[in-house]
Amino acid sequence: MYDVAIIGGGPGGYAAALYAHNFGLSVALVEKDEVGGTCLLRGCIPAKTWLQTADVYSIVSRSADYGVVSSPPEMDWSAALARKQQVVSGLVKGLSGLLKARGVEIIDGYGRLIHGGVEVAAADGTTQQIEARNVIVATGSVPRSIPGYDIDGTRIVTSDHALDWPRQPRRVAIIGGGVIGCEFASLLSELGTKVHLFEALDSLLPGTEPEAVKVLTRDFKKHKVKMHTATMVGPAQIGDEGVVVPYGDDSVEVEVVLVAVGRAPVTSDIGLEEAGVTLDGGFVVVDSETMLTSAPGVYAVGDIVAGAPQLAHAGFAEGIAAITHIATGGVAPVDYRAIPLVAYTHPEIASVGLTEAAARDAGIDFEVSSHGMRGVGRAIIQGQTGGVVKIIAEKDGPIIGATVAGPGAGEMIHELMYAVAWEALPAEAAALIHAHPTVSEAIGETLLAASGKTLH
Ligand code: NAD
Repeated sequence: MYDVAIIGGGPGGYAAALYAHNFGLSVALVEKDEVGGTCLLRGCIPAKTWLQTADVYSIVSRSADYGVVSSPPEMDWSAALARKQQVVSGLVKGLSGLLKARGVEIIDGYGRLIHGGVEVAAADGTTQQIEARNVIVATGSVPRSIPGYDIDGTRIVTSDHALDWPRQPRRVAIIGGGVIGCEFASLLSELGTKVHLFEALDSLLPGTEPEAVKVLTRDFKKHKVKMHTATMVGPAQIGDEGVVVPYGDDSVEVEVVLVAVGRAPVTSDIGLEEAGVTLDGGFVVVDSETMLTSAPGVYAVGDIVAGAPQLAHAGFAEGIAAITHIATGGVAPVDYRAIPLVAYTHPEIASVGLTEAAARDAGIDFEVSSHGMRGVGRAIIQGQTGGVVKIIAEKDGPIIGATVAGPGAGEMIHELMYAVAWEALPAEAAALIHAHPTVSEAIGETLLAASGKTLH
């Protein structure tokens, strides 16, 4: 009898498995694939590795601007693909080693919730039953598609396939201008692929501060990304040479279509309904303090959780919350207010807390402060002055949201994460001095403005 059986070895599941050692809990981790989940195998890690390749390519192509003479870069696609695979394999190996070192029993196979534990069906057709006092369901998500775009892995693909393209496509249509769509648009266009980006809503990265989206669209224009916002596509017409994507009265022909319209939770055929777990639109309803579902002893974490962001780091925090409750009966609730969100586009866009629009919708009396990167020494040195910092603070009150667009935004956002989580007043945060020269000084200037003063 294990203290905990976990179904799914992605960020939510493996974080729970790793954290359990702090309390001496015995853990079985059921996984049908390698450990690592979407993030490590088909998501964050491989995508960011490709973005790194695009970044290097881009720097080399601009090297003369920095006084470094080089030949125009050329892509060795298979070498880049091999590097991506190497990064992923190294991390998977490291994670498996760490889980074993922590005493986690990794059980290969397909897990289903049963009374008192989990039934595991192995690839060879045999099954076994694992008894556990508690079960954490962490089965993750899979890409969705839209009518007229049946995923075939060749002409109509998802990010799962795009991360393993054997060669660089010359013309791509991306359906969906959310995080995945924009990250792929950045990396492909930088590498010289012609990109058509279709988004149903009025803006790319819906829900993001418009000033930040503008920074990104400026870069997209530079890389000749054809952006079609507020545009619905008609059904794809697949031919021998490519795919025609109709929209309005027009159409575009591309080699391949990448569908990035969101991800669906994996919650069917794992015994949830039979166990009495309440679902809402396919997502699992949980108590947000403990991650407990409506079935006693059954917890859910990660991309399947109703009303929570589908982010690896949200999954980590949810895994910790579930284990804390299992081990101690106490709570360690996830502070969803202060979870940073990073689009690893070039330039990056990172945010935490409320946007201006969300603050307005919530009826909050607030003030907005912002500062551009144009005059920021380090940004000029890096040759990346397209950027902005925007901070939302309650009127005469604490910082409630922030967005950074620009080089290193994904790293810089964390100081604003503390500000939002700890409800810092702009004047308190502004009193602390940022190192010079850093891009983060743009945050210092914005904080100063938020406290009613300016320096530069
Ligand atoms: P998303 O929800 O971020 O974006 C999907 C986009 O597709 C939306 O903008 C939506 O309006 C648009 N869309 C939907 N139907 C459409 C249609 N018929 N035509 C045109 N546009 C349409 O989803 P995603 O980009 O697929 O990402 C999936 C999940 O993975 C998200 O929750 C995301 O947060 C997460 N993710 C996060 C990161 C990161 O944090 N850097 C990276 C990748 C994925």
